[in-house]
Amino acid sequence: MRHVVHRADLCVVGGGLAGMCAAIAAARHGVRVALMHDRPVLGGNASSEIRMWICGAHGENNRETGIIEEIALENLYRNPLRNYSMWDTVLYDKVRNEDNIALSLNCSCTDLQMDGNRIRSVKGWQLTTQTWHTVEADLFADCSGDSILAPLSGAQFRMGREARREFGEDIEPEQADGKTMGMSLLIQARETDGPQPYIPPPWAKRYPADADLPYRDHDLPQSNYWWIELGGEHDSIHDTEDMRDELLKVAFGVWDHVKNQGDHGAANWVLEWVGFLPGKRESRRYVGDHTLTQNDVRAEGRFDDLVAYGGWPMDDHNPGGMLWPGEPTIFHPAPSPFGIPYRCLYSRNIANLFCAGRNISITHVGLSSTRVMATCATIGQAVGTAAAIAAHNRLTPRALYKSRVQELKQALMEDDCYLPWNVRKVPALARAASLAASEGDPEPLRNGLDRPIGGIDNGWSGSMGSWVQYTFAEPRHIGAIRFVLDSDLNRAEKNMPCHYPLHMQPVSVPGTMLRAFRLEALNATGQWATVALVQNNYQRLVRIRVDLRTRAIRFVPEATWGAERVHVFGWDIDG
Ligand SMILES: Cc1cc2nc3c(=O)[nH]c(=O)nc-3n(C[C@H](O)[C@H](O)[C@H](O)COP(=O)(O)OP(=O)(O)OC[C@H]3O[C@@H](n4cnc5c(N)ncnc54)[C@H](O)[C@@H]3O)c2cc1C
Repeated sequence: MRHVVHRADLCVVGGGLAGMCAAIAAARHGVRVALMHDRPVLGGNASSEIRMWICGAHGENNRETGIIEEIALENLYRNPLRNYSMWDTVLYDKVRNEDNIALSLNCSCTDLQMDGNRIRSVKGWQLTTQTWHTVEADLFADCSGDSILAPLSGAQFRMGREARREFGEDIEPEQADGKTMGMSLLIQARETDGPQPYIPPPWAKRYPADADLPYRDHDLPQSNYWWIELGGEHDSIHDTEDMRDELLKVAFGVWDHVKNQGDHGAANWVLEWVGFLPGKRESRRYVGDHTLTQNDVRAEGRFDDLVAYGGWPMDDHNPGGMLWPGEPTIFHPAPSPFGIPYRCLYSRNIANLFCAGRNISITHVGLSSTRVMATCATIGQAVGTAAAIAAHNRLTPRALYKSRVQELKQALMEDDCYLPWNVRKVPALARAASLAASEGDPEPLRNGLDRPIGGIDNGWSGSMGSWVQYTFAEPRHIGAIRFVLDSDLNRAEKNMPCHYPLHMQPVSVPGTMLRAFRLEALNATGQWATVALVQNNYQRLVRIRVDLRTRAIRFVPEATWGAERVHVFGWDIDG
């Protein structure tokens, strides 16, 4: 068989949202990344193959930003009717067209080579080309969900529920066991303009009465059928194919119930899509230098090395899934936000191995909160950024913790990741200038906080044609400009729908977003000259490279995507 060898600084295994964000972040910070992913489409559980919508931290203004927000805004702009092929393409585009990422799709990692306690290379089989790919790299990030690199490398991992006494977690069972949250096949329906019959396959399960689906909301269009779940009492890796067969029987049986057994608002609906690839919630979790617990979550996780955050409740599914007649999950409250420390994002015993996504160093109960995909994505961005700093400085993940974790935090905040209880350092050039505006107080633009926090807006608001201006005592060189704009962190719609009603309203870029603006600088003759014109912006984080020397620079908003006034959270200038 053909065999190709690649060389990279960082090899990421698994292209779910965590792996994608890790790869993109590292590549943008200047390291060569190889991303090995075993499916034809990116996004893992969020992709068209599984179709789970992206959730994250609850509460006002707590939406995750950084790469995950960039992806979400791209989707709002390009995919108003929220079609899954378009969504797959948005994800593909983000990775395929990123300089520094070598993407291998349909390539399943199966083996690796060690060098002492370091991974030297990983090997994957690409089905479509009948080719073995070996990737040699200095650093590796396991973002495969099931932690394929753990058994291959001998990295320590946990699987199943901890005993209550081990970490003092009262949500855990008295005795440790191997049970996990289960896996699911989702179903999606489309509304038509007339009645639609449904004939189930003969092997579908039978649920003749509502009492056969206790506590499982199955009315259309609100239910997304996340509770079609099995496998938590089996081996959530090795039994996956058997569970798929059982889940298909359940999925078609549930749809038969919805269509043919009582009124569930489904008369005009057809089954549009059924997943054949189980989406997983839980399997192997790495053991890192810190294991995040229920108690860390409850205490808000205010760690000094906080590099990501969660804010979903501890949503602890019963391992029985459909076989459990009680509530399928219990939502134990968690604060939002709570911090996730860097020390959970690398292996304790394999020196060059990061982990990101649902497989981080965390207990079963902690995971029941951090597993949601916006949280996994921010963890991925933290790992990719850390890997870049580590690669540039020839550090192991642990050595980075000891010497450069504050630099990592600063880099993340500059890339618009929100790190609760931390303030971004604003460039000296912006701090040294005097700041004025034609209306309102512009000072929040350089306070290092890029969203409303604790009831304080941290932004500037003005009308179209107003201006904000930095002025210096002497002409200064400006090379980099950074804006953080308002993407409406409280917007309600999910990234992708679970069903398609007949008159589905298209989505669009949030009205609060600044669409057009210009930058003007004072030239040598004292005139304002336009130095940059932005005309179709739909992103929250906007960076502009310029090369100019001036005594003053100002920005003038020209149009939003709907709001009457413009609202901006941050405006930095740097040399
Ligand atoms: C039914 C269901 C409902 C859920 N509900 C929600 C919800 O409402 N909102 C939410 O945000 N989250 C939800 N979750 C949780 C969430 O989807 C997962 O926790 C999350 O996807 C984990 O992200 P990840 O990137 O770690 O893994 P994944 O999304 O699983 O991505 C990992 C990728 O790695 C690839 N991979 C695996 N092994 C290999 C290998 N050997 N070589 C190469 N590639 C490999 C896989 O194909 C996969 O695409 C739900 C999960 C399920 C199953």
